[in-house]
Amino acid sequence: MRNPVLLVEVTALALVVLHVARTPSWAEGSLGLAVLCLLGVAHTEIAVGVERMRRRVTEAPHVDLSSVWTFAGALLLPTGYAVLTAIVVHGHLWWRAWRPRVPAYRQLFSTATVVLACIAASTVVGAIGSGDLRGTLMDGPMGLVAVGVALLVYTTVNGGLIAGAIAVSTPQATTAQVLGHWDENMLEIATLCLGGLAAVALATNPWLIVLALPALLVLHRAVLVRHLEEAASTDGKTGLLNAAAWHSAAERELRRARRAGGSAAVLILDLDHFKAVNDHHGHLAGDEVLTELASVLRGEVRDNDLVGRFGGEEFVILLPGLDGRDGEHSELRAVAERIRRRVADLTVMIDTADGPLTVRDLSVSIGGATYPHDGADLRQVLSVADAALYAAKRAGRNVVRMSLHLPRHRPSAHADEPPAASNGVP
Ligand code: GH3
Ligand code: MG
Ligand code: MG
Repeated sequence: MRNPVLLVEVTALALVVLHVARTPSWAEGSLGLAVLCLLGVAHTEIAVGVERMRRRVTEAPHVDLSSVWTFAGALLLPTGYAVLTAIVVHGHLWWRAWRPRVPAYRQLFSTATVVLACIAASTVVGAIGSGDLRGTLMDGPMGLVAVGVALLVYTTVNGGLIAGAIAVSTPQATTAQVLGHWDENMLEIATLCLGGLAAVALATNPWLIVLALPALLVLHRAVLVRHLEEAASTDGKTGLLNAAAWHSAAERELRRARRAGGSAAVLILDLDHFKAVNDHHGHLAGDEVLTELASVLRGEVRDNDLVGRFGGEEFVILLPGLDGRDGEHSELRAVAERIRRRVADLTVMIDTADGPLTVRDLSVSIGGATYPHDGADLRQVLSVADAALYAAKRAGRNVVRMSLHLPRHRPSAHADEPPAASNGVP
């Protein structure tokens, strides 16, 4: 089978049928199945507003807090019941909170990954404790080892399949986009730990599992607040930092460089004749070009470089650690030239109502400057980079210019000496 997503879905379906068929009806664990499904559904119903908002402000959150219930099921229930818990809880969550933002085909894949993670975790716990899940959980330190190993297996299978799907469908995605941010992965671990405790409660006194609900709801809210903060600092069209967020992050980086006696570089980029792209192909096509350019920029710099949209078709990048000490800005120039060439080779394919549209022959002009070589603070370095950008435009566009090409610019030997060039960048 050549489509890996379909392969995952078919494998999950086959294993669900196999495990459910193997589980005798009303086997031990039926009560657990009912309790986990009930709590999963209640959790979604109480948090439906928070979850809808979370989906609205983020593209696709990696972490699904319903894994508290699905992981508890994987630890304690026969595998057939564990997958039924996952299907019921996940399906209900999609029905109530994720539709129509998450289309059915994506939900199918997402449920398939959760099902496979449950099967893998359940199999591992079964193997560690020779089949007696409840006994393994209660077996002193072995219980902790079993939950820890199952947690790693669950998160590796679930996260690995999602990362694989992102890497296949979006080859230009950054490592952070493929693997998820550190925060997201820690949240996943925290959620699964809560799932481990829920399983122990279920094994000893099922009533106690209700105590997990308030902690989970507070965690859910805290996640939403973080997503809202991220949304407030992100440019909606391109997903890059917006101008205000870029400014404060760049100021922070420069302060760090100043304290450590380090350096940083700035590139300002402006698409050439972008108005003509809008005029020929329409604003929606122009928007697609901006989004594509944003992913080119992200792909061509390091993960810790700050890429922002200044507004319109202007972008800005701060590259910590790059300096102009060699007098040529050669490292910075190499990065800028790489970006310029990538944009010149870029072909943007756009689906329109009138059929596919191809936009090519794009170009970008780039100006660069470095701290502390070109200025003592962000405003000064930006002014010099901006002047270099205008020099690039005057030189005919599709050109890179560094501060040292500016006729009136004298690199400041001392950090507190103001640069000569200024072009009124705010
Ligand atoms: P130059 O080479 O001198 O930079 O020419 P230009 O056409 O790129 O520059 P100009 O400032 O004349 O035009 C910028 C254009 O960018 C005009 C505006 O409609 C377009 N633009 C700004 N923001 C957006 C946006 O969010 N989406 C789209 N589609 N177009 C935008
Ligand atoms: Mg322009
Ligand atoms: Mg412009």
